[in-house]
Amino acid sequence: MTNLPSSISDAAAEFDKIPGIGPRAALRYVYWLVTQPKESLKRFAQALAALADNVKRCETCGTWSEQQVCSICANPARDASVLCVVATSQDLRVIEISGAFKGVYHVLGGLLDPISGRTPETLSIQKLKERLAAPDAKIKEVILAFDPDVSGDTTALYLTKHLSGLPITISRLARGLPTGAQLEYADSSTLADALKNRK
Ligand SMILES: [Zn+2]
Repeated sequence: MTNLPSSISDAAAEFDKIPGIGPRAALRYVYWLVTQPKESLKRFAQALAALADNVKRCETCGTWSEQQVCSICANPARDASVLCVVATSQDLRVIEISGAFKGVYHVLGGLLDPISGRTPETLSIQKLKERLAAPDAKIKEVILAFDPDVSGDTTALYLTKHLSGLPITISRLARGLPTGAQLEYADSSTLADALKNRK
């Protein structure tokens, strides 16, 4: 990005870091942004700064939250005996939107994929084990809600093996979801069925 004003090339370099964008689109976004009214550009910047300042992982389940403990973990009406393990906060969100689950969650932060370096140590698996084995743990059932693909299967197998010594039932979302589908894009009724028919 030679000969560009540095404010433009710096901003484009930041957009280019977002997965799937690439340098051309990055520059296109920046050129669009500079045409916007200064106020709206400043709001954009403030929204980004708020992410850095306010958003952290819930210390219980690991989802993104502005509080130390997220609103789901802090809600006494949730069923603390059923724990749904998901890969990401987006997956948690689609399950919440389906309205079919009233238990609590654990966010792994991804799925196992040794080829791209996602080993068990890079995910919140140790934390999950500690949560399940804690003396005051109320969890009786764990539902593994992963994408029905190779990484999802690998992670489910790994967890099933490593949690087998605990007095809990482990189930996986039923195959209402087509193989290769992403949970993130599943519709609410498919998800509700998959939850109901877990095995
Ligand atoms: Zn939480």
